[in-house]
Amino acid sequence: MSQLLAGKTALILGVANKWSLAYAIAQAFRREGAKLILTYQGERLQKPVEQLAAELGAEKTFDCDVSKDQDLARLTETLHGEKLDIVVHSIAFANREDLDRPFVETSRAGYLLAQEISSFSLVAVAKATAPLMTEGGSILTLSYLGSQRVLTNYNVMGVAKAALEAAVRYLASELGPRKIRVNAISAGPVKTASARGIKDFSKILEAGAARAPFRRNTDPAEVADAAVLLASDLGRGITGDVLFVDAGFHIMGL
Ligand code: NAP
Repeated sequence: MSQLLAGKTALILGVANKWSLAYAIAQAFRREGAKLILTYQGERLQKPVEQLAAELGAEKTFDCDVSKDQDLARLTETLHGEKLDIVVHSIAFANREDLDRPFVETSRAGYLLAQEISSFSLVAVAKATAPLMTEGGSILTLSYLGSQRVLTNYNVMGVAKAALEAAVRYLASELGPRKIRVNAISAGPVKTASARGIKDFSKILEAGAARAPFRRNTDPAEVADAAVLLASDLGRGITGDVLFVDAGFHIMGL
């Protein structure tokens, strides 16, 4: 069977380790023939991400902290002359205490931090990379049901994801004439380093396994295959959308 991403170059932000959703996406993109470029946040992750990049056959890795304008400018400079087709933004952060106490007690600084890293960074990354998508392309981000429904302890991150999904629509509207599509995948809960920061995350997993139509939780490979669809020409008619890949959990009431 022909590879769905042959001839395409994908920049993936957010691989921290083998459990990262971005890692599963990178594996699927590799399987489908994409050329991979990975970024990591800070020296702490340089060695481990370089090791994962070697295993994935990625062509380049570099440091990019999305809260730093100079890192985003370097992203554009480093990739200058490279035809970019796909960008995966798989990044979020909130202070642990804001995922562990009543939402009404969220601090100003904690609220702004979650918005900056988990929502504004998509806008900043799109600004830095859209000029490199000279033949059009696909920008993807990762969201969660907590943007629309109340999930205990998701709190400040739910508000950030609501802003992220709105940003997807505004970016899709502006970049559409340049043939750049922008979409989000709303993934079901997966045990990753970020997810472990949410108090009682195991209860969210238990509820998913008990109530989702599939009666199980989401496999990261399912999220990755949906990312292949949205990144490939098969997804050419889809933009500004939030695609749920969550074993069907989001449709359930009681
Ligand atoms: P993860 O492996 O911890 O990935 C989060 C990534 O964000 C890490 O690589 C982290 O790097 C990076 N990051 C944080 N701050 C950054 C910054 N300032 N600059 C650059 N990178 C930064 O966890 P994950 O679950 O795969 O999360 C990926 C995305 O999926 C997130 O948007 C998350 O909200 C979303 N999502 C996750 C789930 C789930 O249940 N796991 C469900 C739905 C959506 P460091 O390790 O260096 O901080």
